[in-house]
Amino acid sequence: MPTEIEIVPCLSDNYAYLVKSGGQCAVVDPSEPGPVRAALARTGWKLTHILNTHHHLDHTGGNLALKQETGAKVVGPGKDAARIPGLDIGVDEASGWEFDGRKVQVLEVPAHTRGAITFVIDGNAFTGDTLFVMGCGRLFEGDPQMMWSSLSKLMTLPGDTKVWCGHEYTQSNGRFALTLEPGNADLMARMDQVNAARAKGAATVPSTMALEKKTNPFLRPDSGEIRKNLGMEQAGDVAVFGEIRARKDKF
Ligand SMILES: [Zn+2]
Ligand SMILES: [Zn+2]
Repeated sequence: MPTEIEIVPCLSDNYAYLVKSGGQCAVVDPSEPGPVRAALARTGWKLTHILNTHHHLDHTGGNLALKQETGAKVVGPGKDAARIPGLDIGVDEASGWEFDGRKVQVLEVPAHTRGAITFVIDGNAFTGDTLFVMGCGRLFEGDPQMMWSSLSKLMTLPGDTKVWCGHEYTQSNGRFALTLEPGNADLMARMDQVNAARAKGAATVPSTMALEKKTNPFLRPDSGEIRKNLGMEQAGDVAVFGEIRARKDKF
């Protein structure tokens, strides 16, 4: 069965996702129950699983209500079990998971939170607040080395892997990216598309890993232009990544 995905906007800029395959339907990172209920009613899909990429309330706030109403099982990072409301099935890289008889890859990507994971379902990576479109999450529970390792792990996914992230931060991320790499033609072309999409109120997800590698400054500490603009031509990737993250915090 093909995997179908519905974007479910929540709160002010969060995205939850309905993922449907065969008789199973999962919601990824339900911030709040209301919009998820509405999306289930609209599609007619029956919720069987609730997936959490990390413990933050804007990704788990709908867990308990949706679990109670539908009997769906909560699946999340086993290494952060105590902080995931209603967790039924703790998963990690070794365990992986299975959805509609299909192997789901679980990547442990700590740094935004210690327990953060990415689910990869049928070529779709749900990256939560670790990798955003043209951005990356804040380092709340990790350091630049840890986040760079996590992002490097995501960069090993095939280029056509779709990236579905936890927030619509793309336009601001892109403006920041242009301060570091104004000569990146791929980035400029992409910003035109992003600005057009946002002007219509359209979502900028999904991205792909290939596009992220070309335009996301957090995946590009080896870019000569970025290094030149930071005055860090001889520094290591982790140091350059850390400087990019520090500048984004102040942007
Ligand atoms: Zn978060
Ligand atoms: Zn978030």
